Amino acid sequence: MDENICTKCAKTNLTCCSITNRGNNILFSLSKKEINKIQTYIKNNNFFNIQENNYLFISKLINLFPTEKKNILKKFKIKNNLNNQKQQKENFQFYHFTLKLKQDRCYFLSKQGCSLPRKIRPFFCQIYPFWVIENKIIIFNDMDCLAIKKYKSISKLLKVFKTSQDEILFLYQQYKNNLLEEVG
Ligand code: SF4
Ligand code: SF4
Repeated sequence: MDENICTKCAKTNLTCCSITNRGNNILFSLSKKEINKIQTYIKNNNFFNIQENNYLFISKLINLFPTEKKNILKKFKIKNNLNNQKQQKENFQFYHFTLKLKQDRCYFLSKQGCSLPRKIRPFFCQIYPFWVIENKIIIFNDMDCLAIKKYKSISKLLKVFKTSQDEILFLYQQYKNNLLEEVG
């Protein structure tokens, strides 16, 4: 991540690390492995929420990973009132993890940008503003992202964020695998 441009962005209050008019990317789902990695680094577990799954969450996840629709529906279930309530409460298939917010901004967002080292951040954060569709790198349609506004092309953005196509593909695969790993 280009610390300078993301620090500038954090000062404008439009950063991708907060909920803004343009959307709520920040509510992406975290895998247990990502939570463990952050927990080990910051030595507390106050940074995440456990959210009940709903149709909006699942449809957003399918938009992110269209080829994984079947696995997403297997792993992330929505509570059904007709089923046993106690059993549902104990079943983690009905929940997902998100980063905690402080006044609509990520728990880790400081005035200088993200307070976590890049390698400790969730995969989604390490990948953003890139994404992968059919094994090709794309950039999110985020016209408020200062980096996209300034650099526009994927090749320039890869340089600005000091990353490469291979690294983005790797991080994307890691995120997908970790998120769906318990699908039987
Ligand atoms: S962990 Fe860091 S990069 Fe990710 S949303 Fe929070 S502040 Fe932004
Ligand atoms: S990735 Fe873009 S939107 Fe996110 S903090 Fe950096 S410049 Fe801002």
